[in-house]
Amino acid sequence: MNHIIIKLKKCKWCGKEFIKKHNREEYCSTEHRKYARQEQLRINSRKFYHKYKDLMDEEIKWGLGSVFLSAHRNNNFVSESLAIKREKQKLNVE
Ligand SMILES: [Zn+2]
Repeated sequence: MNHIIIKLKKCKWCGKEFIKKHNREEYCSTEHRKYARQEQLRINSRKFYHKYKDLMDEEIKWGLGSVFLSAHRNNNFVSESLAIKREKQKLNVE
């Protein structure tokens, strides 16, 4: 005799019931798993920010540079040196 056991579980994201294929499944679709993960990351980063915002330097808080310098290096050497020059002028360094 064959018994087919259908296990139903509620999706943690939308609350609909779905058929479990394996034991650790918690969401009805990969999209809902993705949404839940994004939401959790959002919550965690907000928590991290509020916990450590007083300890963070200005640079970490607002990113490297302010207006003309980005956090990443520009591959064009001329525009990169221009950006550094402008940033120096703005900060009155030189
Ligand atoms: Zn769902």
